Amino acid sequence: MRIAVIGGGAAGLVAAGSATGAEVEVFEHNDKLGKKIYITGKGRCNFTNVCDDETFLSSVVRNAPFLRSALSVFSPYSAVALLEDNGCKTKTERGRRAFPASDKASDVIKALSSYAKANGAQFRLGVDITDISYDGSVFKIAVDGKTETFDRVILCAGGLSYPTTGSDGSAYRFVKKFGHTVIPQTPSLVGLKTNEDLSCAEGLTLKNVSICAEGLKPIFGDAMITSDGISGPVALTLSAYLARREKPYAIYVDFKPALSAEELDARILRDFSAGRNKSFKNVLDGLLPKSIIPFIIERSRIAPDKPVNSVTRNERQALVETLKRLRLEVTGTEGFERAVITCGGVDVKEIYPKTMMSKLCRGLYICGEMLDVDALTGGYNLHIAFATGYAAGVHASGDKYD
Ligand SMILES: Cc1cc2nc3c(=O)[nH]c(=O)nc-3n(C[C@H](O)[C@H](O)[C@H](O)COP(=O)(O)OP(=O)(O)OC[C@H]3O[C@@H](n4cnc5c(N)ncnc54)[C@H](O)[C@@H]3O)c2cc1C
Repeated sequence: MRIAVIGGGAAGLVAAGSATGAEVEVFEHNDKLGKKIYITGKGRCNFTNVCDDETFLSSVVRNAPFLRSALSVFSPYSAVALLEDNGCKTKTERGRRAFPASDKASDVIKALSSYAKANGAQFRLGVDITDISYDGSVFKIAVDGKTETFDRVILCAGGLSYPTTGSDGSAYRFVKKFGHTVIPQTPSLVGLKTNEDLSCAEGLTLKNVSICAEGLKPIFGDAMITSDGISGPVALTLSAYLARREKPYAIYVDFKPALSAEELDARILRDFSAGRNKSFKNVLDGLLPKSIIPFIIERSRIAPDKPVNSVTRNERQALVETLKRLRLEVTGTEGFERAVITCGGVDVKEIYPKTMMSKLCRGLYICGEMLDVDALTGGYNLHIAFATGYAAGVHASGDKYD
């Protein structure tokens, strides 16, 4: 049995290692394996989230039920064991996030490569696959102008995010040829752009804020102001839930989620009376980081030089409203160049969830980020690549199409 694995990333290397008993060739158009893994987790590679299946699936934003079977076979504990067994010691940090003990993503790549190599996989690097066809008995693959034949093909060529790592979307055209539906892709886990001028606070981290949008529960945590919008953990999570929402849309920042509007008003009154001889612009230091104050003052529509003892009750209400529900209009995202993951991809209704085989073409398996499955940050996305790659490898190398 000859199997072609297209893509030497997270899904491809696990597929190549788990396709036991088969003659496996991994085609990768970069001259190195796992180029994207190298930059994951800021170079530390948060490779899985050590949790039970239900917790895992609750962090999958799109098509969680599709993953149930693959996850039950290849759990986060399996990922830890696979790396440990292949020479990469691991550790688990806050939020059950697992990393290589060395904090080096390159150690994860080495371990995954060893796993694939131990199964006899051949790596064909710097090789671009430009076409795949099936004549009813074998797959024909166009490799650098020549055709090679294989019994089965595992497609794991990634999504559209960070195209410089090699995931350039070239393989979507192959699946379309086989009749697959590709759900339109949008960037996810990505910074949001707004049309407000937040430049005064560029680079500021807003600690313990909450942000919500219509139809979405508030998301708590830290956010970062960028040159043209908002990024950081809360914004990334928002971007995942809102990846398919038509823009522009509004989001609402609560700078003081621990206080009710009444409690915040009381706090402001206390600050005002403590600084009763000051102007309005000089009494907000205790409430907000300095650099965001000019923006908040502008939004509250209170004259910055107004003596604080003449700020009216209505004006104070406007300030409370600004701090509890600052409206920002999201006009776009930082795009695929900066997105951690792709929302959209091959429609999972056309894939068998146990085996990752295409329902439209026997012997063709599709896994990893190419599929219309994506999750939040925390190690879930790499694990999805591992678990779906594992299912594809195990079943592609089997005698039967089960
Ligand atoms: C900056 C960043 C940080 C991230 N951090 C984390 C993290 O800490 N934890 C986490 O869980 N997830 C993280 N992710 C997401 C994670 O990297 C992906 O979910 C995962 O890499 C997807 O694996 P994959 O194998 O499906 O695709 P990829 O890793 O993209 O691999 C696909 C491979 O196929 C190759 N290829 C494509 N087309 C062809 C072709 N035509 N011929 C030959 N080869 C081809 C590509 O070069 C690529 O190497 C991060 C992503 C980014 C961008």
